[in-house]
Amino acid sequence: MMKDAAGQILYVGKAKNLRNRVQAYFRKESKTRFQIDFLMRKTADIEYLITDNEKEALLLENTLIKKNKPRYNVFLKDDKSYASLKINSQHAFPGVFVTRHIVKDGSLYFGPYASASALRQTVDLVTKHFRLRTCSDHEFANRSRPCLEYHIGRCTAPCVGKVSQDNYAKQLEEARLFLGGQKKELIQRLKTKMKEASGNLQYEEAARLRDLIGQVEETLEKQKVVHHQGKDYDAIGFALSPTQIVFYVLMVREGVLLDRQRFVFPKPFQTHAEFLSHFVLQYYGRLLEIPFEILMPQKIEEAETLAEILRERSGHAVDLLVPKKGERAKIVKLAIQNATNFCKTKIDSFETLLKNLQTILNLSQSPRIIECVDISNLQGSDAVGSLVCFEEGKPSKNRYRKFKIRLTEGPNDYAMMYEVLLRRFRRSEEWPPPDLLLVDGGKGQLQIALKALADLGLHNQAVVAIAKAKKGEKSDKIYIPNRMNPVSFRSNAPELLYLMRIRDEAHRFGITYHRQLRAKKLTLS
Ligand code: SF4
Repeated sequence: MMKDAAGQILYVGKAKNLRNRVQAYFRKESKTRFQIDFLMRKTADIEYLITDNEKEALLLENTLIKKNKPRYNVFLKDDKSYASLKINSQHAFPGVFVTRHIVKDGSLYFGPYASASALRQTVDLVTKHFRLRTCSDHEFANRSRPCLEYHIGRCTAPCVGKVSQDNYAKQLEEARLFLGGQKKELIQRLKTKMKEASGNLQYEEAARLRDLIGQVEETLEKQKVVHHQGKDYDAIGFALSPTQIVFYVLMVREGVLLDRQRFVFPKPFQTHAEFLSHFVLQYYGRLLEIPFEILMPQKIEEAETLAEILRERSGHAVDLLVPKKGERAKIVKLAIQNATNFCKTKIDSFETLLKNLQTILNLSQSPRIIECVDISNLQGSDAVGSLVCFEEGKPSKNRYRKFKIRLTEGPNDYAMMYEVLLRRFRRSEEWPPPDLLLVDGGKGQLQIALKALADLGLHNQAVVAIAKAKKGEKSDKIYIPNRMNPVSFRSNAPELLYLMRIRDEAHRFGITYHRQLRAKKLTLS
């Protein structure tokens, strides 16, 4: 998932070798492709999820695109889900249908089939071998004679009572075994039926069943079906970094890995088991739909109590399981793998970045929470101050604030900055100050910020200024107190890029507000 600076997903893709794929985007020859070049310029972050196989990756990609509607996924934005095969088992004579909507209506679902041809083939096999009806319920109810399907031996014509409900139920059961890939049981049933038919001297029927057994064996060798009948479950995995704990919840619905949720918390004081149970309760406490099974990486003491709470909440039994082998154990492993991978790549590198920033900027504490203040105006008119906040590397939007400049008249950036900082920091008691204050501008703005903080008696508030690179300069500059020259960073140093990202976000936030004010004024005029 390629994201812009504001965290908005721009593009969702999948690849067997993600490293190669992403590198390809950055290669020179890619630059000739305007779309990629544009996307790369906007991409500030790349997030990824490991799946077990291609099919999962495909389905997950589809789900993510549908959910997020990224701007650059032009070909997959349509609202088509993958088709599945549905047997509406509530009807007295259920038929076989293709559907793109899976609803919990008691019907049997098989698939999903990623290709339309695979689905067509399956429908063809089911009708040919098991002779289930394919007509709509309306057509079924209004037939007085069987249709062509009956005459070519692909339906037993329940519409006009040519087959009893019991016999049709047997056909249905065989189709279910076939679609579910339960080869052994199906072959056994068909063989018994063949013997019975031959014993009753029904040689034609016995020959049909013999051919059917051969075809079923051949087909099931090739066909791989994902069950839709399995219970829905979530698999939880977690991993720890030196400072944080990351949870991944993988959601498996009707046998398909549909989505994932990730949660990052500061490293807890509790034991892992305690925190896991705390997480389960918090996470499922706010959900309306709780799966039948929650798979966990380790046992928790209060499992029974938790299950009870969740049962009351969901209205159905919820099992909290720690699978040791099989598919379920694999999916828990996958959740852990995703969490570990996130810790290794994102968190560890972010911790290094924070450490480096602390050292380079000479800060007394790690800058986990950074606020940035920017001023936007047009020749002093409709001036606004914007304040954005980044917490642990991410925008913390509930801490964003806008300030309409009240006291300053005319285009005086310093006075405006002073006013905004005074208004923000005089509320330091109810509004905790950040670990680092970043002001947009050069040495002048830094001096103003220091004065505002000093006037409020906040001598320990860490503050630095970020100034845009002038013509001929390689990178933006960071000014720190008590130092004439800016701190030197490589132009592509992650520490500098991080501060620039925060400044750009403050700028974006301020400009949007400024434009709103101007538009309002113009409309009024
Ligand atoms: S024969 Fe009757 S039940 Fe079978 S497909 Fe035709 S209309 Fe439907």
